[in-house]
Amino acid sequence: MKLQRLKMMGFKSFADSVTIEFNAGITAIVGPNGSGKSNVVDALAWVLGAQSPRLMRLAKMEELIYAGGDGRQPLGRAEVTIEFDNADQQVALPMAEIAMSRAMTRNGDALYRLNGAQCRLVDLVDTLSEANLGKTQHVIISQGEIESLANAKGDEIRGVLEDAAQVSVLRRRLNQAERHVESVTQSLGEVAVKERELR
Ligand code: ATP
Repeated sequence: MKLQRLKMMGFKSFADSVTIEFNAGITAIVGPNGSGKSNVVDALAWVLGAQSPRLMRLAKMEELIYAGGDGRQPLGRAEVTIEFDNADQQVALPMAEIAMSRAMTRNGDALYRLNGAQCRLVDLVDTLSEANLGKTQHVIISQGEIESLANAKGDEIRGVLEDAAQVSVLRRRLNQAERHVESVTQSLGEVAVKERELR
């Protein structure tokens, strides 16, 4: 599973549609200070499911939409898409390529797409988890993160190990299943009461 492409439009400093192709080997992004290098990493974090504005160096999520400048008007919408090669079927979908998009408007409307079809954020996060990717899978190592991990306490280290071992996604599915069992049990109880009433 390899990241092939990142597309940004209206995201932070990228007012126009910009596509970055990731070819084989290492890709380095170079440019003067303030030219948007870190914004590319922020775009990646966002489409991988980041929920905290702080993670993208923002005070409010809305600030990730292009705010105007150099005589250009602010935009009303930001969209980021990533495309992965899935030839190895690491994600159990019958597709050789997987595209994921996340979009947001100034009034806070969010839109998520998996291979063009509208979906929920949780669908993207689950799909990414299958490929050991995602917001908590430590695929983005920011400045100072290694130092903070070296100084982390037991619980924090356990969280990192659980993420790496995909325990978190299984725990989330277990919670969902438990909630489902609870609601079915409640419905069964209601049916039993009605049955007794009808006898
Ligand atoms: P450095 O090398 O100094 O770390 P960089 O290349 O990583 O810089 P970034 O931090 O990615 O630069 O980009 C900063 C630029 O992005 C600033 O010029 C800032 O004005 C611009 N920027 C951030 N958010 C927005 C936004 N919502 N709309 C327009 N421009 C934005």
